[in-house]
Amino acid sequence: MDVLAAPPAASAESAAPIVGERVELQLLTTLRCNLRCTYCSLGVGEVVGSQRKPTYTLDALDAFIEKQLAGHEIYVTFYGGEPTLNLAFMTAVMDRYPRFRFQLQTNGTLLHKLPVALLARLSNILVSIDGGQQVTDSYRGRGCYHKVMKNLDLVRGKVGGTLTARVTWHNEDTSFEELDALTRSFDYLYFQFVAQEGAYSAAAVAKKRAVLSQLIDKFFASSTLYPVIPIMGIVRNKVLPSRARELYAGLTQCRVSTHLLNVMPDGKIYPCPDLMYEPGMLQGDVTQNWLKRSALQPHPDMPCADCSAFPYCRGNCMKNLYIAYVKADENYRRTVVEPICDLLRFLGEEVDRHDPHAWYGRAALPLRNRVANCEAYEYVEIMP
Ligand code: SF4
Ligand code: SF4
Repeated sequence: MDVLAAPPAASAESAAPIVGERVELQLLTTLRCNLRCTYCSLGVGEVVGSQRKPTYTLDALDAFIEKQLAGHEIYVTFYGGEPTLNLAFMTAVMDRYPRFRFQLQTNGTLLHKLPVALLARLSNILVSIDGGQQVTDSYRGRGCYHKVMKNLDLVRGKVGGTLTARVTWHNEDTSFEELDALTRSFDYLYFQFVAQEGAYSAAAVAKKRAVLSQLIDKFFASSTLYPVIPIMGIVRNKVLPSRARELYAGLTQCRVSTHLLNVMPDGKIYPCPDLMYEPGMLQGDVTQNWLKRSALQPHPDMPCADCSAFPYCRGNCMKNLYIAYVKADENYRRTVVEPICDLLRFLGEEVDRHDPHAWYGRAALPLRNRVANCEAYEYVEIMP
């Protein structure tokens, strides 16, 4: 590995709170949810359901933005719980900050209740779904898949920006056909490997590898964009490596080390939505108007500096690395993090098999532009 590709050192104490020119304010409109997904990451630390609605005022948010985020380009993601359970707060924020970009992360079951004017102002909607009907309903409840698909039909054409399927890839029987179908129902498909012990038996990993190979084969065989974000992102990072670094100062592309602020309804701020139960991760407070650098930074015990995937992976996911190598949870390292990292290296090798540089060189300009500049990269973690 060349020196430039090594993870940069960062001091959480001395560094500026936000790195770079952009900042994502991920506002949790509520911690309530109308579903009970079996693998919900907010279930850890009993976060889900613990706060009903924001207790800070928009005047306090104004003061926080003015003091801590002046000069930055701000975009807001509405998050939860299920954020659409608090439409009043979403609308108030959109009216207060008309120049911001807005994104919604939702389970999709209440999309049909969103006013047309609100839909028109969303740059992207991330809809959580688990794959096909059987898998989705088994995690989210009977009828959920059809409800979400029906709602998609109702809002398509009214959303100002894009619709992205956000799949937490848990089930080992999730098939190529199920994921492929999502590329036709949505503008983009993003998937993330579930961070759960027991999900990565040898048989389960073999099945995931087979599906990944099929997705990558189809990506390179298509004359138009096959809109699967992790594959697009890896190709971009291999062909245009500076793009993998420029918005994140070379740190993780999920933004937790540089410019992702998860604002809990009580105004407390954490870098990663899955670690909002960890007191050591507290990064700021809207009501008290303070902010410091994210504590979720590269650590000498993390293995990324010697990893062949680092130039395109950049150390996603920092939560997993933190639990496995900083908190030294051996079981989590062995059963979750190492299998996921193996899959990430496999993804890169499969992409290389298709010679992404030559493919990019042959690709038509509109296709190259979307791979290089897709706005959806800013709304997801890019790596699975
Ligand atoms: S694959 Fe794992 S070890 Fe390698 S860079 Fe990514 S997170 Fe780090
Ligand atoms: S990818 Fe980033 S935001 Fe997502 S769980 Fe991991 S550290 Fe948190």
